[in-house]
Amino acid sequence: MALSTKQAGVTLVVLCCLTPSVMNLPHPRNYEYDTFVFYNREQWGGREATGVTEMVTPVPYVVIHHSYEPGACFSFEECTAAMRSMQNFHQIHQGWTDIGYNFAVGSDGAVYEGRGWDRVGAHAVGYNVRSIGIVLIGDWVSEVPRLKQLVTVKNLINEGVRLGYISPEYDLIGHRQVSATECPGQALFEEITTWDRFQPTV
Ligand SMILES: [Zn+2]
Repeated sequence: MALSTKQAGVTLVVLCCLTPSVMNLPHPRNYEYDTFVFYNREQWGGREATGVTEMVTPVPYVVIHHSYEPGACFSFEECTAAMRSMQNFHQIHQGWTDIGYNFAVGSDGAVYEGRGWDRVGAHAVGYNVRSIGIVLIGDWVSEVPRLKQLVTVKNLINEGVRLGYISPEYDLIGHRQVSATECPGQALFEEITTWDRFQPTV
């Protein structure tokens, strides 16, 4: 059925007025990637950040972390619960504006958006403004993450370079190299020392 002029006019008004609110959403980020499944903040039930600092990109560092707690997650349900748990801890207990990491990767092989590519994180003192912080959800002190989790982290870094958020000349480091912490766990740290662009001397 054809719309009357009046109905068409109403439709146009609605479209015109919806557009600005859609554009003003805090995270209008619908990235799609070929090499891994990506869940944005809305999809894991993240709260909005209480403050945002834009990051100058491309950044020269990638910092690898483990969560220790929560432990490894193997499904969307487990990993989204882990994300909410980390955000709660960082926002409510630590008093930070948001979950500290830029991204998280689960043992399901999926990427979960934290602060994203272009917002300064809170994960490695002195390096937050010049790095992308990626946490591998789980305790990787004595156990290495499963292959699909590791491969996704590498693919995420490659996507960051491709998109221009990470310098092609980036240095890959573990959190323990810049802070007094065992993070990202001995087993995972040994693993990343074998990766492209790992930087042993920071
Ligand atoms: Zn860490």
